[in-house]
Amino acid sequence: MNSNQSYQSNHPLADKYVTLKKHFGYEDFREGQEELIDCILDGRDVLGIMPTGAGKSICYQVPALMLDGITVVISPLISLMKDQVTSLNQSGVHAAYINSSLTENQINKAFDNAENGVYKIIYIAPERLDTPRFLHFVENADISLVAVDEAHCVSQWGQDFRPGYLSIAPFVEKLQKRPVLCAFTATATKEVKEDILCILGLCDPYTRITGFDRKNLYFAVKHVKDKRTETLRYVREHEGQCGIIYCATRGSVEEVYEMLCSEGIAAARYHAGMGSTERTQNQEDFIYDIKTVMVATNAFGMGIDKSNVRYVLHYNMPQSMENYYQEAGRAGRDGENAECMLFYAPKDVVTNKFLIENKESKKELTDEETASIRERDIKRLRDMTYYCTTKDCLRNYILRYFGEKVHGECGNCSNCLTEYEQHDITEIARKIVNAVYELHQRFGINIVIGVLRGSRAARILENHFDELKTYGSLTQYAESTLRQVIDTLIWENILYQTEDDYPVLRIGSDYTRLKDEETHIYMKSEIRHAKENTEKSSGKQLVRRGELSTEQHQYFEKLRVLRTEIARKEHVPPYIVFSDKTLIDMCIRMPQTKEEMLKVNGVGDNKLQRYGADFLKILRGE
Ligand code: ADP
Ligand code: ZN
Repeated sequence: MNSNQSYQSNHPLADKYVTLKKHFGYEDFREGQEELIDCILDGRDVLGIMPTGAGKSICYQVPALMLDGITVVISPLISLMKDQVTSLNQSGVHAAYINSSLTENQINKAFDNAENGVYKIIYIAPERLDTPRFLHFVENADISLVAVDEAHCVSQWGQDFRPGYLSIAPFVEKLQKRPVLCAFTATATKEVKEDILCILGLCDPYTRITGFDRKNLYFAVKHVKDKRTETLRYVREHEGQCGIIYCATRGSVEEVYEMLCSEGIAAARYHAGMGSTERTQNQEDFIYDIKTVMVATNAFGMGIDKSNVRYVLHYNMPQSMENYYQEAGRAGRDGENAECMLFYAPKDVVTNKFLIENKESKKELTDEETASIRERDIKRLRDMTYYCTTKDCLRNYILRYFGEKVHGECGNCSNCLTEYEQHDITEIARKIVNAVYELHQRFGINIVIGVLRGSRAARILENHFDELKTYGSLTQYAESTLRQVIDTLIWENILYQTEDDYPVLRIGSDYTRLKDEETHIYMKSEIRHAKENTEKSSGKQLVRRGELSTEQHQYFEKLRVLRTEIARKEHVPPYIVFSDKTLIDMCIRMPQTKEEMLKVNGVGDNKLQRYGADFLKILRGE
């Protein structure tokens, strides 16, 4: 049941396609969705593990609309609930949310409505599950389905543990009739998966893990010295497009934000040091396309469903691949091409180590557990650093990291699009290892390189390192080249760098390879960019939008203006009216009638009724 091969539905309820089209405007299910929906409709519990943007919500929203009773969705974030409910209401589905952002009066009103059968779907925060009011409501209600969003919050292993999630299983047990229980997450590690299965009390669930590959995302790493200038250039190259810039610290958020504002770019900022009113306001400005660039720490983004984010730029390297992929994954949720760019500088490693070492430990953990978590974090940081320094396909690196098999190079990442040349570095490697040995494995990269290049720096002369045999043995190489070689040797386990505040170079476990005359060590280095970066970003980025002819493009801009007007009037984010993808499809198909309009991807009955006429007017050239 758990294979990832193409799926043939034998389900008699073909109406799910009708529901999908009618309410969401989509013709086809994405990978994994149909199976999960079929199982839910058959009354079986399910666990869906799918990357961000894969379309988890549809998996419970479609059955919710088809089952007789009410669906309760447990969700950890207020913004996420609000967004989903707005979106459902737009599609003509009656839904509501109950959480701490509502007043007591509003909550009572929502419950009254719920008791009168107004809502098909109710979103609720986990902490509200055992409140008397809610329990009273469910006692008399027909609950068909309970859906747990962000299910990894139940696990203490992850970073998002939420104690309220522990009350989900007891809540489900309390219900008179056991509903179908389904859980969704983007976190695929073994520990988290086991926690979900066991703590949520899923009963013989059908588990579906979809591929982690997001084909519409272009991955790139760039080693940059002057991050500010590069950032400005990057944002300018992507003018008019929505993007998120993630920084490691509040300080750098402020710095980048001010720089962009002073250059006249419509930027917003977000970090935990700001007041909640300002944070909410800035978040809305970004969601409503009033500000196009969001500069933020990782405090921003959980539950942000903005589908037209065209790039995610990491100003600093994050702490782990898990964090990176989750944050980068916020680009291109509408399925259109988008870019994930990471600006790397070796200093990022130092900053992150500092952050990991000074992280407050959780009270409920023993010292031993805290130490093992720290060790795990350091290992994750190392894997993240390798991502930034590898010369191999970045997508493959990501997929392998998440335990997937890869087939060939992707052709859509900065490494695949860069030409590299192989150098034999065996001889240089021998000299470096000798220098490390002569220095008794007690010094860091700078001293080792200084010795090899015959530096006259005070520290070298004072210690009489100029008397070493390896002193001045590699003067012909630039410092940066030797750094690259040392990085490669660390990667190959020929050298080893300690994790201290002042990391020291030691001989690694695989150094014996150098003793073998037959062995050669190679290093890849860049020849030149196959395509210059600017060309690549503006060219690749919006392939589909780029495919539009000038005339179609003019239509796109007109439709976009109309979309913004409607969004302002209705107080919803523009992408909730129609996604970029839907507008592009309109420009390609150029529907002239309502029937033709209904064929456009993302146009369902409800939206056709609401907006069809206005958009058709433009498309008919009226
Ligand atoms: P997740 O929760 O997995 O991160 P969402 O449920 O927010 O992802 O879906 C991401 C985007 O994909 C949304 O804009 C959603 O409308 C869209 N989407 C979901 N399913 C489909 C589908 N079958 N066809 C087209 N678009 C879809
Ligand atoms: Zn690649």
